Amino acid sequence: MGKVVIIGAGGVGTVVAAKCAQNPDVFTEIVIASRTKEKCDRLAARIGAPNITTDQVDANSVEQLCELFNRHKPDICINVALPYQDLTIMEACLQCGVNYLDTANYEPEDEAHFEYSWQWAYRERFEKAGLTAILGCGFDPGVSAVFVAYAAKHHFSEMRYLDIVDCNAGNHGKAFATNFNPEINIREITQKGKYWEDGKWVETENLEVHRPLNYPNIGERESYLLYHEELESLVINFPTIRRARFWMTFGQEYLTHLRVIQDIGMARIDPVMYEGKEIVPIQFLKAVLPDPGSLGENYTGETSIGCRISGLDKEGKESTYYIYNNCSHEAAYKETGAQAVSYTTGVPAMVGAYMFLTGKWVKPGVHNVEEFDPDPFLEKLAHSGLPWHVIVDGDLEL
Ligand code: NDP
Repeated sequence: MGKVVIIGAGGVGTVVAAKCAQNPDVFTEIVIASRTKEKCDRLAARIGAPNITTDQVDANSVEQLCELFNRHKPDICINVALPYQDLTIMEACLQCGVNYLDTANYEPEDEAHFEYSWQWAYRERFEKAGLTAILGCGFDPGVSAVFVAYAAKHHFSEMRYLDIVDCNAGNHGKAFATNFNPEINIREITQKGKYWEDGKWVETENLEVHRPLNYPNIGERESYLLYHEELESLVINFPTIRRARFWMTFGQEYLTHLRVIQDIGMARIDPVMYEGKEIVPIQFLKAVLPDPGSLGENYTGETSIGCRISGLDKEGKESTYYIYNNCSHEAAYKETGAQAVSYTTGVPAMVGAYMFLTGKWVKPGVHNVEEFDPDPFLEKLAHSGLPWHVIVDGDLEL
């Protein structure tokens, strides 16, 4: 039915490639391309499907990307490289007539700041070219926003309060490691917190607001208020939301390591001189931390990510709604060779591209996932390893 180019062969790319290969009727040809071709070759060999080929590309270069696209002529590109490459890949997609999907919004490399404005600025050009760009199609952002769209479609007449809750109750046995790219992860969680209330953004100190929350099949975990990118589009696309917040769990040991990393300057993103050469401390730190892709083997426990929403239901009655997925690290590793954080990101990316290729999510322009029909997406997600559950009128704790 269609040809896909996957850019990036890290933890998330590993899962996207494996899941696309499980759907050969839709992904008839798969190309895995990344900066380091050996990683793509290893991944292709591990999956062992006859319709996979590999290639090399520096995704910071529009010229190299265009050469890649012209060589392979894909229908859609799944971008699971780093957020720094979003704009070059979108630009090349426009120049070569390729549709686009990613899992994280653009972030300039020298500024720990992420927002959709840079990518939304491409709207008109994608629309005019008749190309679809699907933004933020991992789990959060991604499924989190599709969950909100599903709740709006099927349960609420007026959504008022939204809390996205992200718990990783897994144990990888390492003193300190990040579950996805360390540079991106540490940049995200060392920022100030921010949430939406009564029509404006409210800022908090970094990890200042926290409380224990109960997660299904896991129990109580301390949860910290963070800014997360899907809040930006959700409060625009669902304007009845009065308050929107995002919470993520962290263990004490993790936070202590993080504090030390910050205090000694290893989280810095500006270059420093070391023995006559410029190095960026956080990039050096990435080189010595465990590779997130290697954490899967002994990872136990599970993740639980969902949306806790309250407001008025379709009958106008006060109501609560909790929609979530739990994912086992061990089961994810057994199936794909990657842990649950990569799995919960890679499966939705495949499902989003599947929606596009099967004609269900085709809309020229640049769109966040909540702008599409949530029903076929969530149905396919449940059959692709991420079943989800709904609790109506339970205690949301928030
Ligand atoms: P990894 O660091 O494991 O993998 C990144 C991959 O991109 C590597 O293969 C890397 O190549 C490649 N890459 C980096 N720079 C370039 C470049 N200039 N040109 C070509 N390839 C490049 O990251 P993850 O797999 O953990 O994460 C991938 C993406 O998923 C990130 O954008 C992350 O923010 C996002 N994410 C989204 C989540 C969600 O729920 N929405 C959750 C988790 C992650 P090399 O091996 O040579 O370095």
